Parts: sequence; C-alpha cells; structure tokens
Amino acid sequence: MINLTLLGATGSIGKSTLSVVDLHPERFNVFAISAHTSWQKMLVLCQKYQPAFAVMTDEHAAQQLDDQLQGDTAVLSGAQSLDIIAAHKNTHYVMAAIVGAAGMASSLAAAKAGKRIMLANKESLVLAGDIFMQAVNDHNAELIPVDSEHNAIFQCLQGGSSGLSKIQLTASGGPFLRTPANQLSSVTPDQACAHPNWSMGRKISVDSATMMNKGLEVIEAHYLFNLPADKIDVVVHPQSIVHSSVYFKDGSTLSQLGDPDMRTVISYAMSHPDRISSGVSALDLTKNSPLEFYAPDYDKFACLRLAFEALKQGGSAMGTINAANEIAVEKFLDDKIKFLDIAKIIEKTLENAKHFYPKTLAEIVDNDQNARLIANQIAHTYV
Ligand code: NAD
Ligand code: MG
Repeated sequence: MINLTLLGATGSIGKSTLSVVDLHPERFNVFAISAHTSWQKMLVLCQKYQPAFAVMTDEHAAQQLDDQLQGDTAVLSGAQSLDIIAAHKNTHYVMAAIVGAAGMASSLAAAKAGKRIMLANKESLVLAGDIFMQAVNDHNAELIPVDSEHNAIFQCLQGGSSGLSKIQLTASGGPFLRTPANQLSSVTPDQACAHPNWSMGRKISVDSATMMNKGLEVIEAHYLFNLPADKIDVVVHPQSIVHSSVYFKDGSTLSQLGDPDMRTVISYAMSHPDRISSGVSALDLTKNSPLEFYAPDYDKFACLRLAFEALKQGGSAMGTINAANEIAVEKFLDDKIKFLDIAKIIEKTLENAKHFYPKTLAEIVDNDQNARLIANQIAHTYV
C-alpha cells in the first residue's frame, strides 16, 4: 500500500488525484491531506478517507475542523505543518498541488526527505529551481512532473534523451486566442476563467488567458529537463490533444497525446513506471480533427515574452515575475485592475526590482516579498 500525502487536497488537482485513488483503493492510502481555509470540504474528505493527518494552514479553519471532526485524524495548523506531513516517515508519495508560492517550502521539504514528489506546484521550480533540483539530487528524491506538458515530455523521454535537439511545449492559447488584441482591455474575470479545454483553479485559468502559465512552464521545463531557453519552444495548439513534443537530431519527433484531462497525468505520476486506469476514455482522433498548430503572438501575449526574458536574465528575475503575476492576477480577479494591466505590472516590477542571484531560500523569500511590495505599489497606479 502506498501512503499518499496530498498537499492542496481541496483544489482542482487535489480532486482529480482523489478520483484516481478511488479507482485503486487497494494500491493507495490517503495518509495526509491539506487545505488553506476550506474546512468544510476537508471535513467531508476526512470522513471519507480517514487520513492520519489533516493540515489547515489557516489557524481559524483548523480550529473549526478540529471542533467538527470525530475520529482518529490529527488536525494540524500553520504552514510549517505542511513540511511535517510532506517529510513524514510514513509518507511515500507527495502530491504537491498547492497553488502559488505558498507551495514552495513543502515541496522542498518532500525533496529533502527523499520522497516521490508529484509536482503540480510549478512555482517551486520558478522560484527556487536551483535549490529544489539540488535537493532532489542530494536526497535521491523522485521528481515526476504533474503539468500536462512536462509530464508529456517526461513520458517521451523514457527512452532516453540521447540526440535531443529541443522540446516543444504546447499551449492552448486560452480563451482569448482568437479575440482581437484591442478587445482584451475589457474582458472580465469570468471570461478569462472560461478555459476552452481544461477545467482548473481560477489563478492558473487567468494565467492561461494571459499565457503567463506557458511562460512559467518554460521556466519549469528549463529546470526539469536541464535545458537552456533556446532549446525550449512554444507552439499554440488550440485543441489541447498533443500535450507536448520532443525533437531529436535524426528528424524524429515524439509527442504524447490524449484528451485534456489531468487524471491521465496524475495516474501516470502515481503509477510510473507502470500504467493504471485513470477514468479517462481512450482518445478518438477522428473526433478532434483538424489539429492546428501556430506560432505564439508575443506582442498580444506579452506575459509569455516577459517569462522568456526573465529566464534569460536568470537569478531573481523569475521569482520577481512570479510574485508580480500573483499580485496582478489577484487584483484582476477582484475587479481592481484590467486584464491588460497584468502584463504591464509584471514588466514594471521586473524593471524596478533589484536583480541578483539568490543562493538561499531566505533570499528567495526576501525577493518574493520585495517584488510583491513593488507590484502592489505599481498596481495602485492602475486601480
Ligand atoms: P486550486 O486553486 O484549485 O487549489 C489550490 C489548493 O491549494 C487548495 O487545496 C487550497 O486550499 C490550497 N491553498 C491555496 N492557498 C494556499 C496557501 N496560502 N497555503 C496553503 N494551501 C493553499 O489550484 P489548482 O488548479 O489545483 O492548481 C494547483 C497547482 O497545480 C498550481 O501550482 C497550478 O499551477 C498547478 N497545475 C494545475 C493544473 C490544473 O489542471 N488545475 C494543471 C497543471 C498545473
Ligand atoms: Mg500545463
């Protein structure tokens, strides 16, 4: 029996992970779960899965859960409790599915404890890629990407990376792919969150609409596959059937295809090197034709350009754009700024934040907080 610790159990990835667990109760045991504030959803999950630990990072929510819960689950509170369950000796696999920079420390704790980390929290790599990959290597952790593109590349590289010339991330282009650029100024949060193919949390849905999600994924791919920016390509593929491709020197290209459903990715991460059923039906290519591919528009989707720039600058620039993006997206979702202001706030934060090469987690956290302050000040001028 594999003991699973699920960080971000109440989110979109959390829910899909539990639906894969439900198909294989003889294989997976839900050992620990976490959420931020949604204690009512956690109560339901605790009753169903009877985990040994339930962490609510919000202390008030932890108290509420503890008051309502009967049974043997220990309720812990605070962000540091995430590290405890991630590194617990009885944890075998960690699903790192917290959204945002808040997920970084617990992913790192899992790496340092040598666990299998199924990494959905791409921010761990965007913020602390060098430190994180070093910890994975030093502690013999097993890192399996839970982002459809990176999981596709991971699958395509199972035969090895000899003769690899480049990798290519596919991007759906989001809900505004065909919206004229001059109409983007007035789009609403609900329109931005209405992704044509994938059902996801609101923050990553806005990132897909700006294509910042692809930008963060380029940085994620740089660390996961140890490749420079010029070997990472992006292609727009509105149908989201080809999840990504790997190009080799001999003219061969390998791609992984499937219906856009994260359960395929999650079940692969949970069963690798085996494959198990995920609840996703077989792909029917005849129902998806034609499959289209376009070069991305870096002017309309300025966030993608900014992410490439940050990767080329290296060091703190990547954490800076991530922090500025988190602030800007939150303000957009709260109707405080306009959609196009997101890229402007990120660009100005990148120009104004100090650029350096962080060596420690403390320096990374410092830069994150500083970039948030700068982004907040800049955002204020757009409110
Ligand atoms: P979500 O918003 O649906 O869920 C987020 C989870 O994190 C919830 O359980 C929430 O309680 C928890 N959380 C939120 N803020 C927190 C905080 N401050 N401290 C601790 N926990 C907190 O998000 P999601 O769509 O499931 O995405 C999770 C991660 O997976 C993100 O990093 C996202 O980029 C990545 N990802 C998601 C998808 C997808 O299809 N949803 C695909 C690829 C990658
Ligand atoms: Mg993705």
